[in-house]
Amino acid sequence: MAGTVHVVGAGLAGLAAAVRLAGRGVPVVVHEAAGQAGGRCRSYHDPALDMAIDNGNHLLLSANHAALAYLATIGAAHGLVGPEAADFAFMDLASGERWTLRINAGRLPWWILAADRRVPGTTALDYLPFARLLYAAGDKTICEAVDCAGPLYERLARPLWLAALNTEPREGSAALAGAIVRETLAAGGKACRPLIARDGLGPVFIEPALRYLGAHGAKVQFGHRLRALDFAGDSVAALDFGEDKLTLAAGDGVILAVPPVVAADIVPKLTTPLQFRAIVNAHFRLVPPAGLAPIIGIVNGTIEWLFSFPDRLSITISAADRLLDVPREVLAERLWTEVATVTDLPKALPPWQIVRERRATFAATPGENAKRPAAKTTWSNLFLAGDWTATGLPATIEGAIRSGNRAADLVGRM
Ligand SMILES: Cc1cc2nc3c(=O)[nH]c(=O)nc-3n(C[C@H](O)[C@H](O)[C@H](O)COP(=O)(O)OP(=O)(O)OC[C@H]3O[C@@H](n4cnc5c(N)ncnc54)[C@H](O)[C@@H]3O)c2cc1C
Repeated sequence: MAGTVHVVGAGLAGLAAAVRLAGRGVPVVVHEAAGQAGGRCRSYHDPALDMAIDNGNHLLLSANHAALAYLATIGAAHGLVGPEAADFAFMDLASGERWTLRINAGRLPWWILAADRRVPGTTALDYLPFARLLYAAGDKTICEAVDCAGPLYERLARPLWLAALNTEPREGSAALAGAIVRETLAAGGKACRPLIARDGLGPVFIEPALRYLGAHGAKVQFGHRLRALDFAGDSVAALDFGEDKLTLAAGDGVILAVPPVVAADIVPKLTTPLQFRAIVNAHFRLVPPAGLAPIIGIVNGTIEWLFSFPDRLSITISAADRLLDVPREVLAERLWTEVATVTDLPKALPPWQIVRERRATFAATPGENAKRPAAKTTWSNLFLAGDWTATGLPATIEGAIRSGNRAADLVGRM
């Protein structure tokens, strides 16, 4: 190809595609409907807390090689921080028990043989059936493939899959859970180190990417919402933004990196996932107690993960649709009571904010997973990207970035 690539959508999928192409010297224009980049992965100033927060706590693992390579390219690799080893602190709110899961670095999983490293109440043999997920058929749910009961399930497998798939394991895709197990637990502790953008998603994932694009001559147009595509024969002929229309030249390409509902509206006969699951985050402004683990998994509570940042404590609840209609004040009190128990802090509610993302990710069920389209379309110059396309992973930063990379590679071969 010799032309310009138009990337529609400046979420991580679109940014990854644009960064890869711009880095190769391809002329790129990014068109973003909103006034800022980042999509579902963004930071903003919250007036209630008078501080910058993220729309949601985003956990990555050291296995996320595409995300790490993207950050290295845009010069932000130092922005992801985490412990040297794959250690995960947990607390059971029902029993008060605390433990630390300590996954050894190598592929041979001897941590499951060590009682002080594995989940309390489990034996080494309990872990073996989970290997079945590695070969699970596409139409199976997690709980059809493995036994969803017992301490190993309640204290490790359920929290892991619920967080990774944002879908209850009884309806979650066994194949997608298997992909997570293959890339993380089965690859050893060196692939399981938890990583967070301590200084915020914007400063780590988004702003350096925009600077990189600027430095490589790519244009980013905000407030530029694609309304429709004009087709001619087997290709896209023009991008219709309502007030302006952009006619493509021969050799120009388009990467559509918008959410599935928008893509389905714009691309004729496109099949996409159409069911979603919510994520609820709550942020509490205070300086966390010294020595608190950076991430704590919570079992038998409403809160599921507690993140400790220098100026706040934040919690995450996945597949949280049941909480969307709970009054905010009621929810804040309920969540803080649990945080206070985990951290031994006073029960008085500190300044707080609750962020409920209704359509945080597509529902990672076998049925919805089967609807994910490939990056290639029937139009020779149109490619799809997004965490909801057929990446083989659940809706994650890693999946979004891999999809953007793939679309960039395909448009480059046009
Ligand atoms: C609360 C929350 C917590 C999460 N936690 C994690 C986590 O812990 N770990 C993890 O890996 N992932 C997590 N995720 C998932 C992760 O954020 C997403 O997978 C990723 O950000 C998706 O990127 P994307 O580019 O595919 O889509 P999006 O971010 O949705 O980007 C699409 C972009 O297209 C733009 N757009 C829409 N319509 C148009 C149009 N017509 N014209 C132009 N532009 C348009 C949108 O404004 C948006 O910027 C979480 C998500 C949420 C919401």
